Amino acid sequence: MNIILLGPPGAGKGTQSANLVEHHGMRQLSTGDMLRAAVKARTPVGIRAKEVMDRGELVSDEIVSALIDAELTAMAPETGAIFDGYPRTEAQAKSLDEILAKHARQLDHVIELEVNEDALVDRITGRFTCAKCGEGYHDRHKLPEQEGVCDKCGSTEFKRRPDDNEDTVRTRMQEYRAKTAPILPLYESRGIVRKVDGMAGIDDVTHAIDAILT
Ligand code: AMP
Repeated sequence: MNIILLGPPGAGKGTQSANLVEHHGMRQLSTGDMLRAAVKARTPVGIRAKEVMDRGELVSDEIVSALIDAELTAMAPETGAIFDGYPRTEAQAKSLDEILAKHARQLDHVIELEVNEDALVDRITGRFTCAKCGEGYHDRHKLPEQEGVCDKCGSTEFKRRPDDNEDTVRTRMQEYRAKTAPILPLYESRGIVRKVDGMAGIDDVTHAIDAILT
C-alpha cells in the first residue's frame, strides 16, 4: 500500500502518519523531516535548504524527489509508504510517478485532509514536540499531563519548529494554494482521491483513514 497524505500545513499529516506507522506497519516518508535532518547535520542539501525553509517557500523539486527516491531504494518492497508533504508541485507529482514505477510500486490512495485555513494558524503557532520521542503537543489544545514532562517517554526536553511562526505560516499556506492544491485534479482524474474531514478530532480522522485503508 502506498498513499499520499495531502493537505495544507497544520492539517494533521504528521499526526496521522504516526498512527499509520504504529498500526499499519507503514513507513512515513516526510520530506520536511528529511530536510530538517539535513539542516541539522549541515549537509550540502541542508545548507541550501535552510533559508528557503525559514521563509516558508518550497525547496527545489530535484532535491526533494532525490530524497524520496533514495528512501524508497532503501526500503523493503513489501513495506507500505506514506508520502507526507510530498509531492507539493506538479513536477514532483510527475517525478513521483516515475520513481514509483522504477520501484515497482503503485499509488493506492491520495487522502486529502480538508481543513479550514483560519484554524490552521492557531494550530501551527501553538504546536511543539518532545525532543526525544517526537510526541506532538499544543500550547492551547494538548499540554502534557504533567507540566514539562512528555506523557509518552518522560523526557523534559521539547522543541518548536523555527518555521511555525505566523508570517512563515502564511507564506506556507500561499505556497500550498498556488503550487500544491493544483495537483489534486491529476489524482482525481485517476479516481484515487479520498477526502477526509481534517477538522474532526484526531481519533475521528484516524478512524476515517483506517476505514479507507481496510
Ligand atoms: P513540512 O514539514 O512538510 O511542513 O515542510 C517544511 C518545509 O520544508 C516546507 O515549508 C518547505 O520549505 C520544505 N519542504 C518540505 N517538503 C517539500 C517538498 N515536497 N517540496 C518542496 N519543499 C518542501
